[in-house]
Parts: sequence; C-alpha cells; structure tokens
Amino acid sequence: IVLLRFNKIYMSEFRELGLNQDIVRGVENLGFESPTPIQKKVIPLLLDTDQDVVALAQTGTGKTAAFGLPLINKLDMSSKTCQALVLSPTRELGLQIAKDFENYGKFIKDFRVAAVYGGSSIDKQIRDIKRGVSVIVATPGRLVDLIKRRAVKLDAINYVVLDEADEMLNMGFKADLDF
Ligand code: AMP
Repeated sequence: IVLLRFNKIYMSEFRELGLNQDIVRGVENLGFESPTPIQKKVIPLLLDTDQDVVALAQTGTGKTAAFGLPLINKLDMSSKTCQALVLSPTRELGLQIAKDFENYGKFIKDFRVAAVYGGSSIDKQIRDIKRGVSVIVATPGRLVDLIKRRAVKLDAINYVVLDEADEMLNMGFKADLDF
C-alpha cells in the first residue's frame, strides 16, 4: 500500500508538468521519481510554446529527458515521416540519447527512433530511416550526407535539438551546423 501511494505521488509530479499518460508511464518505468530542476523549468515551457529555448545545465542533471519528454509528447505518431532531429557531437552520446528516447516512448505505439553517425554503413542507416521513424538522432557530418542523399527530408521536420551545442562547435562542426 505504501509503495502504491508513493507511485501515485511520483506519477502526479511528472503529469503535473503536462506530459501525457503514456510518457509518464515510460518515465515511471525508468524509476524516475520526481523531475530534476532543469526538467521542472523546461518541460512545461516546451509543452506550452513553440519558441526556441536555450537551456544550460551540467552533465548528469537530466537534460536528455528535459528536451526528450516534451519533444516526444509533441510528435504526431500517426505520421510515418521523421518530424524531429536531435544533433549530438559524438556517436556515443547519440546512441545514448536514442536509447533514452526509446525508453521514454516505450508505451507509445509506433514510436521509433534512429541513431545515425559516421564510421558506420550509411546504406543500413538509410534503410532504417526508410522503414519510418519519428525522430533521428545524428552526428552533424552524417546528417549532412543523409540530407544530400535525400534520405532525410527537412520539409517535415518541426523540431531540432542541438545537444551539447558548445561541444559541437569546439569539435569543428560549425560548417555542418550552418549547412
Ligand atoms: P542526463 O543529464 O540526461 O545525462 O541524465 C543523467 C542521468 O540521470 C541519467 O542516467 C538519467 O537516466 C537520470 N535521470 C534523468 N532524469 C531523472 C529523474 N527525474 N529522476 C531520476 N533520474 C533521472
């Protein structure tokens, strides 16, 4: 009984931020008990508006969920076209983000994510994308290649996230980001 009561309290904290029930289930399933400070600030703002947001917080403060949860909440799952791009400076971070997103969206029907990055078969990545994904997580150079090959079409993209934008600039991705 005590556990159930706790679950209720935790659930309502994420739901109070305005997230839908399926996403709250995903978050709950991960064992997140209450939103972190960056999540409390950013999630209601992103759910409420379509304005651009710059959020700054240290690594390990829950930034991935801060942008990931409202982003997934806003996607139209009835569409098979990719609606959101998440850019990451490294393959490792990109894979981590994609895995986190899959967990957040575990209880959402037809929610699919693809991670694409250099140093790995582009043909396989194109096949993955063609099967239909809602979100693509990409390193900048590989995304440019995929756009040039028309495997990623920008006209249906509604949201773009630059994760660790400062790091992407430090790593020399400015030309790719400008493109
Ligand atoms: P991040 O800053 O996104 O890399 O997250 C750091 C770690 O905190 C990851 O292992 C997340 O799974 C975890 N995390 C994120 N948000 C929460 C939360 N609200 N409660 C507990 N853990 C969380």
